[in-house]
Amino acid sequence: MEESLNLNMNKEYIKITFPDGRKQDFKYGTTGYDIAKSISPSLLKKAIAIEIDGSEQDLCENISSDANISILTLNDNKGLSIMRHTLTAQVLAKALKNLYPNVKLAIGPVIENGFYYDFDLDKSITIQDLPMIEKEMKKIISSGNEIEKKYLSKEKVADLFRNKEETYKVDIIERSEQQSNFSTYYQKNTDFVDLCYGPHLPSLKHIGPFKLTKVAGAYWKGDSKNKMLQRIYGTAWKNQDDLKKYLNILEEAEKRDHRALGKQLDLFHFQEEAPGAVFWHPKGWTIFQNLINYMRKKQDEAGYLEINTPEILDKSLWQRSGHLDKFGDNMFTTITEDKKEYAIKPMNCPGGIQVFRKGLRSYRELPYKIAEFGKVHRYEPSGALHGLMRVRAFTQDDAHIFCTEQQIEEECIKLCNLITNIYKDFGFDQIVIKYSDRPEKRVGSDTVWDKSEEALLNTIKSLNVPYEINSGEGAFYGPKLEFVLRDAIGRDWQCGTVQIDLNLPERLDCNFINSEGNKERPVMIHRALFGSLERFIGILIEHYSGNLPLWLCPVKAVIATVTEKCNDYAKNVYDLLNNNNIKTEIDLRNEKIGYKVREHSHSKIPIIIIIGEKEKSSNAVAIRKLGSKNVETFILEDFIKITKNQIEQP
Ligand SMILES: [Zn+2]
Ligand SMILES: [Zn+2]
Repeated sequence: MEESLNLNMNKEYIKITFPDGRKQDFKYGTTGYDIAKSISPSLLKKAIAIEIDGSEQDLCENISSDANISILTLNDNKGLSIMRHTLTAQVLAKALKNLYPNVKLAIGPVIENGFYYDFDLDKSITIQDLPMIEKEMKKIISSGNEIEKKYLSKEKVADLFRNKEETYKVDIIERSEQQSNFSTYYQKNTDFVDLCYGPHLPSLKHIGPFKLTKVAGAYWKGDSKNKMLQRIYGTAWKNQDDLKKYLNILEEAEKRDHRALGKQLDLFHFQEEAPGAVFWHPKGWTIFQNLINYMRKKQDEAGYLEINTPEILDKSLWQRSGHLDKFGDNMFTTITEDKKEYAIKPMNCPGGIQVFRKGLRSYRELPYKIAEFGKVHRYEPSGALHGLMRVRAFTQDDAHIFCTEQQIEEECIKLCNLITNIYKDFGFDQIVIKYSDRPEKRVGSDTVWDKSEEALLNTIKSLNVPYEINSGEGAFYGPKLEFVLRDAIGRDWQCGTVQIDLNLPERLDCNFINSEGNKERPVMIHRALFGSLERFIGILIEHYSGNLPLWLCPVKAVIATVTEKCNDYAKNVYDLLNNNNIKTEIDLRNEKIGYKVREHSHSKIPIIIIIGEKEKSSNAVAIRKLGSKNVETFILEDFIKITKNQIEQP
């Protein structure tokens, strides 16, 4: 039943290049096993796959041409991913099969930090079933079974899964354009086989500690017209320590989930009629506006001009910009009564460029920096949506800088200083920059690429911030920087980007008149700091566990009276505070003060002002800050002075 691969036997030896640049000849058709073995017995023991010219392959695969290779182990992220995939595809799937023989297996991919498996089963699996499934998985892993790869023809592989009544696998095979060489992975000593591109671990001995974390529903192929399947999520790591650390993060993350806090603090909601679009409540919208006001001030100081461009633009513009081609599936479109086709903008760039293009630009105007709080819409499958973190409608703090080649570096340095300072104002001290340079397929001249890359590299070196270099992972139109923030519980969030663009100015025909009086193409830099304001607010809520810095809080204080006799004084304090722009609420209800304090603490109002007869008679306020049990008394005037200082935007 095996199809042998046609090896070209003209060549006797191939040249293998190792990650450190060392080269060695191996017999034509050598395998990852042979190579690992030639390095050391300990590497052979740890080896789980091989990367050949950037693509991950099984150790058993024959190598038939000169190649750059690297042997993967659980110490690499790629190795970890292969382990997680094998765990779901070979162990979780088999455990389900053992426990529920009539289960139909769908797919088992990896996700960040873990994996899931989708399956079709009459019985509905709950979180209570997970320990039993884990137990079955551990039994399977303890066999240490080897995994063997075989290639089958389309006909044979379809027959194989048809006989097993695995209708979802058969569906995948029948719909595949591939005609031969379907790879299958057999678990030795069992009748279990998985259909997969691979790679898989060579044996179950390499599986690390794992935990199943949750269950959910998911449509087959993510399409709501298809059947709803069940999904089990899990996580797996190379050792117990890593697993424990990650489970702690999960637990912490759940406590500070922005969706729950958004409700608790009355900030926003979502509803079915607008999937992935936020209904902002007054308090949430105030936070949103506070962010915009903050950014406006910073941008102003940095010499940006703010613009606003249409949300609905003729399809032809999206054609010219190339977005329709590359991004069309994610765009919302509309046809009007007069049969014109429009698209709702998924990005602000083409609109922003129109502002630069209007009229004749002189080199004296450069760098020309235009910023826009632009609302964009992108279609995302409903299964991918997640609170504020993943939406279909969001606002970017976008800006475009048009400059000369000579100005790239100076502008990038200014830009990156601005970005890192802003993150510090929000309490993010741990920042990592990811730098991606030229990919093989690209547009633009090598001279401009050289200049752009040099500018970005010099910039990150000057910043004193740790950075990573992702070789060859830049966009086809230019190199980029990505800013990754670490939050209070150690999770990383990619927020800001600086992207040099050698493509759009060409496609949309941007020019300026240089000092010689000739037309010249400007270089365009796209940048965003928060990225999406919606998502950034989600990150802030989780980072601060809902206890936002005072200046960002929509309501700074609430007045809670002890007895009705103080109502007049309380109302005076209320007016005075609000007149001083200290946004304050008042609670005159006939409730016990302890009850009021608990309730306002639950809504995370930062300052609770307690007013009783003692305060009234001394023109004072008793202050209880969120998270503290102490009550401190201030003369009203002093309290206003101090608080005015504290709520000031940085
Ligand atoms: Zn697989
Ligand atoms: Zn842009």
